[in-house]
Amino acid sequence: MTDERKTPDMREQMTDIERLRHSASHVLATAILKIWPEAQFAAGPPVENGFYYDVDLPHRISPDDFEKIEAEMKKEIKANHPFERMEVSRDEALKMGQKGRLAALSDRDQPSKYKIDIIDNIPANEKISLYRSGDFIDLCAGPHVMRTGNIGAFKLTNVASAYYKGDEKNPQLQRIYGTAFKTKKELDNYFAMLEEAKKRDHRKLGKELELFTFDDDVGPGLPMFLPRGAVIADELEKLAKETEFAAGYQRVRTPHIGRESLYRKSGHLPYYAESMFPPMELRQEGKEFEEKEKRFANLSEIVDAKQETPEQYRELTELRVERANRYYLKAMNCPHHHKLFAAIPHSYRDLPLRLAEYGTCYRYEKSGELFGLMRVRSLQMNDAHIYCTPEQFEAEFNAVNEMYLNYFRLFGIEKYLMRFSTHDPSKLGQKFVDEPELWEQTEIMTRNVLKNSRINYVEVPNEAAFYGPKIDVQAWSAIGREFSIATNQVDFAQPRRFNLVYKDRDNTEKTPLCIHRAPLGTHERFIGFLIEHYAGNFPLWLSPEQVRILPIGDDAKVLEYSMSILNELRAHQVRAEIDKSSDNINGKIQRAEQMKVHTMFVIGKRDMDANAVSVRVHGKGNLGAKPRTEAIADILQSIKERRA
Ligand SMILES: [Zn+2]
Ligand SMILES: [Zn+2]
Repeated sequence: MTDERKTPDMREQMTDIERLRHSASHVLATAILKIWPEAQFAAGPPVENGFYYDVDLPHRISPDDFEKIEAEMKKEIKANHPFERMEVSRDEALKMGQKGRLAALSDRDQPSKYKIDIIDNIPANEKISLYRSGDFIDLCAGPHVMRTGNIGAFKLTNVASAYYKGDEKNPQLQRIYGTAFKTKKELDNYFAMLEEAKKRDHRKLGKELELFTFDDDVGPGLPMFLPRGAVIADELEKLAKETEFAAGYQRVRTPHIGRESLYRKSGHLPYYAESMFPPMELRQEGKEFEEKEKRFANLSEIVDAKQETPEQYRELTELRVERANRYYLKAMNCPHHHKLFAAIPHSYRDLPLRLAEYGTCYRYEKSGELFGLMRVRSLQMNDAHIYCTPEQFEAEFNAVNEMYLNYFRLFGIEKYLMRFSTHDPSKLGQKFVDEPELWEQTEIMTRNVLKNSRINYVEVPNEAAFYGPKIDVQAWSAIGREFSIATNQVDFAQPRRFNLVYKDRDNTEKTPLCIHRAPLGTHERFIGFLIEHYAGNFPLWLSPEQVRILPIGDDAKVLEYSMSILNELRAHQVRAEIDKSSDNINGKIQRAEQMKVHTMFVIGKRDMDANAVSVRVHGKGNLGAKPRTEAIADILQSIKERRA
């Protein structure tokens, strides 16, 4: 999705489907040239779920043109041209560009201007190659499929505008998007999935099922959970608390704001300032304040006269920060947790120390990037920080991964991927904190854990966080849509910045490692994911409304019997409701089904006489009558086991 040039190494790593899709972009260009021979092409890479080609053309391409273009593409695929690679010198390539022969079917009046510009940007030591398929010759480093016929099925999807190289000073091009698959069946499945995804869209279901809402007066990107959505957040929190308690975590609570000095210490300021809400300035007063002001003036004079000691200079710097006395909404919980670690002296016996909090953070996402619950400005995070010795790291990290896998099983997440991002030794001290041994050590340990615990992962070099390796967790919903769920980080820089220490066996002070982890991500994103994953049909334990009691008719005795069941369920903490409206039973059932209520107890006179209930489950229909005690026991058991 980037306009950056791909290095030959990155090209080597292109997957089979990416090769196929990129090859389809050559075919797309060929087809466009058959119709509009004057078209000039820029870049045509594969992207997530498809490919595009940027074209400069006076005719404005619209979806109405797609059929015509697709027909030409089909001809090219049917012709089954091989993709032939030709290595040429820079001069030869430029000469062809001048003749308009690059990204073209023949020589032309106009030079292939974008291709010439691309050649100018190819490093001197890199080979220049052209690819030919049929009459079409393009400047390209590959790779492709063997023949155009290998493109099994494709479809053009969209047209948008894009500046050349993403720079608005450059000409505006038309970006034609398409997607391609090996087989027609895969292509059909993909579009069926998109159709289904539309129905499951969490913004749509969130509204229909009354789960959450946004309000302009509250502010964009600040979701509020309605009672039915808050219940889901509560259940997830309960799950996290139980799981973490059993795993030896301890819970803490911290405020939503922190002073500027805290974020200077953590390094979030100034580097992360753009992603934080602007600071709040507090007015100062009182005797202490006046004295500090005097001290500040005094130190300033000394520093101005260049007569300060290093201590005085440090004091002045600290006062300067304090004078600003600004507070920030917290964008992450780590700095507060580090301060909690530091609040009590620790020895090696206290480690690992696992501090957990469902902390609320605030991040300033650009308004154009806000998206439902997926990209928000306030987020409640399933956060914890594990402080441990290097010897404990492997076991701790492994336990974190086990927790992930257990959650995946619980939620029926069958496909997931952990992206393990490592550092690049040549960028130590610039992109990555300069701790070569710690990098190597933690990366080896992390890799070992991932390898030994049968976890599905890929390693991505050069994408670690500044202060340590990280793991991004992606999960696919039931219909195959991909979501970024959470990020884990190994951190050996922040504990040092905060002077965190523990007394080791030999009585020396050492700095602990810190693992940041959040397996359930944030409530916002995880609930957004779950809504789409379950299509709003939550398992009983997560259902906003677990049982709705539907009495038939208005017989006072039946109503009384129904109420006694309602009270019994509620006494057991079951989220049960009763529909006492005067509607007929079909209307009541319809309304409950519409709200995707998990279980309905339909109660008529016959049920009452038999001390029974007729059980109906959303999506499964009528399950018949059951003795009252059995029906209630089933409900309680299913909730207790968090049954799927
Ligand atoms: Zn190519
Ligand atoms: Zn953290």
